[in-house]
Amino acid sequence: MSRKKIVAGNWKMNMTQDQSINLISELNQITSNDVEIKIAPSFTNLSKAILILENSEIEVIAQNVHFEERGAFTGEISVEMLKSIGVSNIIIGHSERRKYFNETDIILSKKVKVAIDNSMKIIFCVGEELSEREKGNHFDLIKSQIINGLFELSTDKIKSVIVAYEPVWAIGTGKTAENHQIQQMHEFIRKLFKDNYGNDISNKLRILYGGSVKPNNAKEIFSLADVDGGLIGGASLNFSDFKAIVQAAHG
Ligand code: PEP
Repeated sequence: MSRKKIVAGNWKMNMTQDQSINLISELNQITSNDVEIKIAPSFTNLSKAILILENSEIEVIAQNVHFEERGAFTGEISVEMLKSIGVSNIIIGHSERRKYFNETDIILSKKVKVAIDNSMKIIFCVGEELSEREKGNHFDLIKSQIINGLFELSTDKIKSVIVAYEPVWAIGTGKTAENHQIQQMHEFIRKLFKDNYGNDISNKLRILYGGSVKPNNAKEIFSLADVDGGLIGGASLNFSDFKAIVQAAHG
């Protein structure tokens, strides 16, 4: 089964408006038919990014969303607000949201629901801390993150989900997971989808790897059987690195 690769850049809390315009203008030169490219700038840079990339194949996505549709939630951003500026894809459950903002499986499943019920696509992140892996709990943990976050979705709705496996100990640390660890976990995730939703859904599911993907390791990682691209943090802030990672996804 051939699945189109995705390279998604998560800019996190980086880039002022000017810096973001500069990087987006560079990214605008990238053409790529057989790789889906996405970038997730901060909320303040989304509208400008969408405007500049209007005629490009690069999709502008959000890093987060609130789980309520509207109301008295000072400082939060709703799905409707994102839709109204042209965003149709949201990262949900990044480990930094889980860890620093106490986003539990229950909160995340509400975010998933509000996004999907409003016709959004999502990149749902899962990943274990090093301590969990060392205790041998990593498969159980990923399983529960996926079941609790996603598996209330119907067969039709689950099609809007991309999964990103991001071992927390590999994010921003320069420490990439070993290829066999990556492949093993991606295969495990695909099997969970197969057991719950059947062959067709699991074969089409795209599972991204995230955790210190750089130009020098991207090709190897992207060539693993169950890896369908990457969620890129640090390296997505540098044009030539991000471009090289996109090229590595061309296979
Ligand atoms: C991320 O935050 O999603 C990520 C993978 O970061 P980095 O590439 O910097 O490890």
